[in-house]
Amino acid sequence: MIKVCKFGGTSMADANAIRQVKNIIDADDSRRFVVVSAPGKRFKDDIKITDMLYRCYNEVVNLGTCKKSFAVIRERFVEIVKDLGLTIDIESVLDKTEQEIDQSKSPDFAASRGEYLSAVVISAFLGFEFIDAAEIIRFDSHGKLNVDYTDDKVSNRLLGVDKAVIPGFYGKNFQGEIKTFSRGGSDITGSIIAHGVKADLYENWTDVSGFLVCDPRIVHEAKVINQITYKEVRELSYMGASVLHAEAITPVMKRRIPINIKNTFKPEDKGTMIVPNEQYKEGLNDAVITGIAGKKNFTVLLIEKSMMNAEVGFIRRVLSVVEHYGICVEHLPSGIDTLSVILESEQLKDGVLTDLVSEIRENVNPDYVHVIENISLIATVGHGMARRHGTAATLFTALAEEKINIQMIDQGSSELNIIIGVANSDYEKCIRAIYKAFVK
Ligand code: ADP
Ligand code: ASP
Ligand code: MG
Repeated sequence: MIKVCKFGGTSMADANAIRQVKNIIDADDSRRFVVVSAPGKRFKDDIKITDMLYRCYNEVVNLGTCKKSFAVIRERFVEIVKDLGLTIDIESVLDKTEQEIDQSKSPDFAASRGEYLSAVVISAFLGFEFIDAAEIIRFDSHGKLNVDYTDDKVSNRLLGVDKAVIPGFYGKNFQGEIKTFSRGGSDITGSIIAHGVKADLYENWTDVSGFLVCDPRIVHEAKVINQITYKEVRELSYMGASVLHAEAITPVMKRRIPINIKNTFKPEDKGTMIVPNEQYKEGLNDAVITGIAGKKNFTVLLIEKSMMNAEVGFIRRVLSVVEHYGICVEHLPSGIDTLSVILESEQLKDGVLTDLVSEIRENVNPDYVHVIENISLIATVGHGMARRHGTAATLFTALAEEKINIQMIDQGSSELNIIIGVANSDYEKCIRAIYKAFVK
């Protein structure tokens, strides 16, 4: 039995949390490969080490050195090492790291050092070998994971290694420079390692007792999902359930390795099992839906043209204008005479929205283009939804009762989810209403 364990930022935040990590590892001999994040927040307004490291980079750009911002990071690691009673020469490691951040002038290099330093400390504390992710994780010239190279390196390097600690979040690009995944990316590293060592289980240890039906910051009493499929997690993570990175499913999916989301601070809780369809056991969850997730700040371009559906190439022409601006489309629900193009508002700043709309007008000559800003998208996800009658009715009744105005509806073709668009100001209220309607 081989388990790969990834510990997130709160599990690395201070010596107490790290002692807890050691208890978990020591309790099970099959927990052989440990992937770690950078120290995260210790209290509400604390700053994550990764955010401090991006500050270091900005300081290097502006002042030529990161001395001031790095001092806070230095203090944090010195304190952790001291509190753990370790005798490693952390000052020398920190001196070298500070110099390298100054010299590299790279945001990715700077950001990666949180995980690097975390792994140096934890490997010493656990007595495990340190294996640098830079040696084994590689990106291609498009910035995507080089899957073949990485799989090969990971399995060869870890073959015959009994126990090791590997920093999450980064690898090297095709030119040999340090490159990170997007934020929260240590989850992806854990998944890559689990795939590479043919693990039986990928344990993802965090600060909540599993994947919850919705964000606990919105519904405090949100229940734990006992079991969920890979596909449902992809939908929920992509739509904002930040507990697991949306790209962390793909590597383990190839070998059908289940993921167990666990709470470092309540290790006795069962957590959530994320499994492929064929391993899913009916009856473990009580609700009709599996989960709810959402994201704020979208813009809807509602394009109307009579007989649009009879006009060959209409949608293609709209999309080529959007593509011309290098903008990704989030959703594209359409009717007979209408097409809604849903875009992240972030991509439409600095006059891009106005230019985009006028170019669409020129290119497809619509009757009408209506722009709706400040929209949130909320996905209600559940593989059982499609087979059950009345799910949509329950959803829409709940929102009507709360007087929430639905601006857009899109049922994905997977029939795994219903996505609705509401005003940003209704976001939290809407999630609470859906939760109340489905979770008893
Ligand atoms: P880590 O640092 O361990 O990777 P993250 O902060 O990335 O942890 O993810 C855990 C956090 O995700 C939780 O503390 C919680 O606030 C947030 N979260 C958002 N949606 C969900 C959800 N559906 N279930 C559980 N946690 C969620
Ligand atoms: N430390 C990185 C971040 O804050 C990666 C991670 O924690 O997964 O995004
Ligand atoms: Mg995370």
